[in-house]
Amino acid sequence: MNLQERNAEMVTMLRSGSTIREIAERVGLSLDRTGEVIREINGTTRMPLHARFWRKVDKRGPDECWEWKSSKNEWGYGTFHVSNRCQLAHRVAWLIYNGEIPAGLLVCHTCDNPLCVNPAHLWLGTNAENIADMVQKGRAHRTPSEAVWCAKLTSERVAAIRRDYASGEYTQLELAQREGVSRANIGIVVRKRTWRHVD
Ligand SMILES: [Zn+2]
Repeated sequence: MNLQERNAEMVTMLRSGSTIREIAERVGLSLDRTGEVIREINGTTRMPLHARFWRKVDKRGPDECWEWKSSKNEWGYGTFHVSNRCQLAHRVAWLIYNGEIPAGLLVCHTCDNPLCVNPAHLWLGTNAENIADMVQKGRAHRTPSEAVWCAKLTSERVAAIRRDYASGEYTQLELAQREGVSRANIGIVVRKRTWRHVD
């Protein structure tokens, strides 16, 4: 396979939805090098979201944790930028594999590893289910509210959200985007339907 043929093959695979790992294996390049070559070939064309996403993941066996290798937030969750918005990496993994996340549901980890984005380790749950899971696994020593939403929010963040929302300078949508949670979750916070112990 000469260089031109290799590049054509990579573009074809990319367009047909192959993952960057599959492309790397097919053309015999390392994952990082594959990403670089794809960017060179594409020029100004953006790499498809899934290719951009999976090259930041240490993909392992089907049952192992696949850890996020890129940026993370202060709570240890992987973060990924989509359309200039900061998203939680494990939620993006769910979106890529399974499609939409129904409003109000959380993407939780069976492995309790916040950096893990292996779709086999992710499940959709309600707040109540997340708490029940936590209790069953003996993690009940954590304050339940802190564990809700897979610990995406802390007391400090909740206080900041309420303060900023009360100031009238931010919409719920803006706060949701800033905090990486759904607008429904922000609504619940500002109406004090949860986190009642925080002022
Ligand atoms: Zn895992």
